[in-house]
Amino acid sequence: MRKVLVLNTTYEPLNVCSVRRALVLLLKDKAEVLEEAGASFHSERAVYPVPLVIRLRSYVHVPRRTTMRITRRAVFARDRHRCQYCGSDRHLTVDHVVPRSKGGRDTWDNVVTSCAPCNRKKADRPPQSAGLRLLARPRAPEPSAFVLLYVDHVHEAWRPYLSFAS
Ligand SMILES: [Zn+2]
Repeated sequence: MRKVLVLNTTYEPLNVCSVRRALVLLLKDKAEVLEEAGASFHSERAVYPVPLVIRLRSYVHVPRRTTMRITRRAVFARDRHRCQYCGSDRHLTVDHVVPRSKGGRDTWDNVVTSCAPCNRKKADRPPQSAGLRLLARPRAPEPSAFVLLYVDHVHEAWRPYLSFAS
């Protein structure tokens, strides 16, 4: 099912919606199309391009997203579904770099995607004590990275509007 990226008047990514929802916004003149697919959508009266990115005509005030909420899904999405110790994409779990039992917190710089074997090997130790090394230093994702929660891959046409994907 194709998704549409919805931008605020400021071009800031707001959310992701279905093509159907985007067409309703366009038909009501509440949004304009910024990027479209080659395919067309036929209604009884007219032919419309299939939107890929739309921009709302009036500003929607949203509390500024500073950090994404930490969930399994969000951690996996940030880490592109790869174990941050060995790169595996199978049997993924969430690991606390500094274990909770050692005072490690639920913060973006302390949670990483780990495959079950690496997680077992690491057990209740910091990575270096278990002979493991992080492939990258974990950080809070860019605010616009929330779109990764809605799609499996970022459409090429979306990239110019997403700071993390450019
Ligand atoms: Zn691993």
